[in-house]
Amino acid sequence: MENKTSGIEKRISRLLKAIQPAARLCILLAIGQGEACVCHLEALLGYRQAYISQHLMALRNAGILETRREGRYVYYRLSDERLLGLIREAGRIAETPDTELEALLPDTPLPHCCCPNCRGKPQTSVAAREEFSS
Ligand SMILES: [Zn+2]
Repeated sequence: MENKTSGIEKRISRLLKAIQPAARLCILLAIGQGEACVCHLEALLGYRQAYISQHLMALRNAGILETRREGRYVYYRLSDERLLGLIREAGRIAETPDTELEALLPDTPLPHCCCPNCRGKPQTSVAAREEFSS
């Protein structure tokens, strides 16, 4: 029988597969709506940096994360913030209280972290960044 879905199931499957490992769900929630550097994720999640980097690379290759370099730091952000909604919704279906998910997103800055969330600075605009680097 002919397949009439024209590959939509493959596109959805590819997305879900890329975010599926539990560690990646944690990483995506921890990055949240802002940006985070590897040291932020390391401090927050307690994984080794090499382990986090490996997942970050896979998520980046899948187009789920975008990066921005500032000096010697690389900041990661979600390419589409709706991913957070997708993970939260999956949590609700799995009967995980929102409060448990929110616990992964601390509202206090981590000491010794250089990411924009922890420094308490607004994210630099493109213009400001260009000025900074020139
Ligand atoms: Zn941070």
